[in-house]
Amino acid sequence: MVWNGMDWWPKPWDAIVIGAGPAGSLAARELAAGGARVLLVEKRRFPREKVCGGCLNGRALAVLDAAGLGFLVTRAGGVALEELRLRCRGRQARLDLPIGAALSRARLDAELVAAAREAGVRFLPQTQALVRGSGNGTRRVRLQRRGETRETAARVVLVAAGLGHRCLPPGSSLRTRVVPGSPLGAGCLVCRAPSFYGIGTIFMAIGREGYVGLVRLEDGSLDVAAALEPDFLRRRGTPGAAAEGILAESGFPPIDALRSARWQGTAPLTRWTRPLAEDRLFLLGDAAGYVEPFTGEGIAWALASGRAVAPMALKAIARWDPGLPRHWDVLHRRVVRRRQIVSWAAAAALHRPWLARLGFEALNRMPAAVGCVLRYVNAPVSLPEVS
Ligand SMILES: Cc1cc2nc3c(=O)[nH]c(=O)nc-3n(C[C@H](O)[C@H](O)[C@H](O)COP(=O)(O)OP(=O)(O)OC[C@H]3O[C@@H](n4cnc5c(N)ncnc54)[C@H](O)[C@@H]3O)c2cc1C
Repeated sequence: MVWNGMDWWPKPWDAIVIGAGPAGSLAARELAAGGARVLLVEKRRFPREKVCGGCLNGRALAVLDAAGLGFLVTRAGGVALEELRLRCRGRQARLDLPIGAALSRARLDAELVAAAREAGVRFLPQTQALVRGSGNGTRRVRLQRRGETRETAARVVLVAAGLGHRCLPPGSSLRTRVVPGSPLGAGCLVCRAPSFYGIGTIFMAIGREGYVGLVRLEDGSLDVAAALEPDFLRRRGTPGAAAEGILAESGFPPIDALRSARWQGTAPLTRWTRPLAEDRLFLLGDAAGYVEPFTGEGIAWALASGRAVAPMALKAIARWDPGLPRHWDVLHRRVVRRRQIVSWAAAAALHRPWLARLGFEALNRMPAAVGCVLRYVNAPVSLPEVS
């Protein structure tokens, strides 16, 4: 365990990455591959489940491929996705998916951590990190593990700690704005579900006050992930009861085990952070902003930001340049933010019943337009060079 050998830790680390989701693990791996001494800190025990639909789109797969990890999803047993079935108040639409795979987050994230460790990253699970101030060419980081606290430092710190993290130091200039009325996320795994929910298909039930995505994972369990309006969740009492209500409203078959399943929840989903970096500190993945998951692109955004930030962080390790925070804002907008705005517009349309109705008509009558949307969502990202 790295913690016990702390006396031998480099002083300082080149980089400390906080959070071992897709953004943090891929960024850590890229940095280690670039020659940096990297510590990856994760507060939870690994492997761990998290609220997520577990669907990787073409873009996520393309980022992994470009990073030399194209084999990873297949090796881990990822299920090829061929079809998307949507239902909204009795209306339905069916789309062929050009590409995509379903894989549990326990498995995907564990594989990414393993890839990072193979590249030389030191991994410290079950440890909570808090960023502190900077000075002497480093950022300090406080680590808390089983009641013990230690302080270390790095030339650069990457915060990839997901939605609603609390890693930033008091007085940080980085500010997050949660969009008012934003839905809450909730998810669970169901071992026994009706055979209607077949393998290779994403089922999406859309209700007036939320939506639920369902997909079979590599072990045959059904991943259920929902975005729920806070008032609706309050009225229904539990995420299981809320998801049950949305399935019934949409016309998908009921799932008995939903109420007794072990649900996890999230903070309000849609949020923007500005700026995204300050002295020797960069935010990436959901920690840099997120849009509710209707188009299911969060893993792609996380991976893309993890890969995009690495050359900049390597520059920062070699020599800090006060212009880097501004460069990260610009690059992040190109690689992630623009796409989030499109996804946000699609999700906003859902909250207007007449627009949702129109969307369903379009899906059923204009296959060419649907093809364009699918191509856009799955298009690979090209990462510009950092000069
Ligand atoms: C309901 C729902 C369904 C979704 N479905 C999909 C989908 O089908 N496809 C898709 O592509 N995306 C989906 N997403 C989005 C996707 O889950 C996220 O965008 C993605 O996980 C972001 O990755 P990340 O690495 O930024 O953060 P995360 O995966 O959240 O990882 C952050 C990590 O940081 C750790 N951490 C937090 N604080 C600290 C700390 N102080 N110290 C140390 N570690 C810390 C956490 O424990 C966590 O492991 C969905 C999201 C929701 C809510």
